[in-house]
Amino acid sequence: MGEILVAGGGAAGMMAAIAAARAGADVTIAEHNEKLGKKIYITGKGRCNLTNDCTTDEFLAQVPRNGRFLYSALNRFGPRDMMELLESAGCPVEVQRGRRVFPASEKASDVTKTLTALLRRWGVRVRLNTEVAELAVRDGRVTGAVLSSGEFLAADAVILAMGGLSYPGTGSRGDGFRLAAEAGYTVIPPTPVLVGIETEENWPKALQGLSLKNVRLTMSCGGKTRYEELGEMLFTHFGVSGPLVLEASCHLPEDGAKGAGLTIDLKPGLSSEQLDARLQRDLTAGGKKMLRSVLNGLLPSRLAECFPVLCGVSGAMSCSQVTAGQRETIAAMMKGLRLTVRAPRPLAEAVVTRGGVSVKQVNPGTMGGKLHSNLYFAGEMLDVDAHTGGYNLQIAFSTGALAGASAAL
Ligand SMILES: Cc1cc2nc3c(=O)[nH]c(=O)nc-3n(C[C@H](O)[C@H](O)[C@H](O)COP(=O)(O)OP(=O)(O)OC[C@H]3O[C@@H](n4cnc5c(N)ncnc54)[C@H](O)[C@@H]3O)c2cc1C
Repeated sequence: MGEILVAGGGAAGMMAAIAAARAGADVTIAEHNEKLGKKIYITGKGRCNLTNDCTTDEFLAQVPRNGRFLYSALNRFGPRDMMELLESAGCPVEVQRGRRVFPASEKASDVTKTLTALLRRWGVRVRLNTEVAELAVRDGRVTGAVLSSGEFLAADAVILAMGGLSYPGTGSRGDGFRLAAEAGYTVIPPTPVLVGIETEENWPKALQGLSLKNVRLTMSCGGKTRYEELGEMLFTHFGVSGPLVLEASCHLPEDGAKGAGLTIDLKPGLSSEQLDARLQRDLTAGGKKMLRSVLNGLLPSRLAECFPVLCGVSGAMSCSQVTAGQRETIAAMMKGLRLTVRAPRPLAEAVVTRGGVSVKQVNPGTMGGKLHSNLYFAGEMLDVDAHTGGYNLQIAFSTGALAGASAAL
């Protein structure tokens, strides 16, 4: 038991400090922002989807890569433990659709406030506006850290919880990756996930702001389906975004997403035959009306406006003029509107950074680095990420809690 320095005061760092202090250690958090947990404030659109009320196996199914690495951390401090910790500290939580857990107040600030109160209760020293610039290492052990002010902070153990490279305005600027690499750890190159996707086609720009509900999105590459799900998506000035697209971005090929195909089934509840029969009926009933006015009954009006052009027909033609071939094309496009991936949006816009400290060099039972007996890692700076639903914050809390408890031993 001794002095523990936690570098980074985000979700992972705060939880690591709480766990270490509860275990009796003398703990300091060094956070270069003017306040703790800056990113937490913007999570879940300000409501903070802090975890997901699911079992460990269900949780791991939402972690596309390196999920097994999290097994011990989740078993030691899982979603239920997080919910109980907050509730017992006076922050009631609420389980919502998809078992997503939020503070009952739906205010992300309540989560930060509660964690800050726990830090105070356990006597953690919090140093704000304090930037960790370098790790001090001697004979295979970390002896502390040098701050950008030049000050040296001695420590018996150091926990790096400095986040990734997403939303750098919240403080995560990749410093943790640099420190880990300087200490000899392999850092898997960071890439964006849970991010919008730029398309080769320009037409989504004309529809920016339009949200599609109850559609099926399929992403395929080299003839293989990599993602398929029902839900909601959004057209933007660069291409597509929204919940389905963010999830699909986790499955883009890492060696080049360019050319991957996105297919939108606008009518997943109808078979091709049913849709064609419906169109035929509507067109017959439409008579002299313009094609686009009939499509209005089947599609959101902004999409109905430009849909005929995407199908190579004029929206101004009358329904009675539409040939059987044109009708079949329209029906086929409704069942499979295609887009081509140019690239994911940049890391700064990604909800999460993929990549980071290689999990092969971190002990999953302690979060300790294998190259140093007293250096620990937690949170987004590890090479593990998950889908949306509260899983990423829980990864930060679970790995933080395990790193803190292990460092305090
Ligand atoms: C818009 C948005 C919405 C999100 N919504 C959700 C959600 O609802 N649910 C969910 O589960 N996940 C969500 N996430 C993801 C989640 O916020 C992150 O996975 C999580 O915050 C990672 O926590 P962390 O502590 O590892 O890193 P961070 O939160 O990035 O914390 C790292 C901390 O280290 C500090 N730091 C960095 N360098 C230094 C240095 N040199 N010296 C001192 N301090 C330093 C930073 O200032 C920062 O405070 C969202 C992310 C974004 C961007």
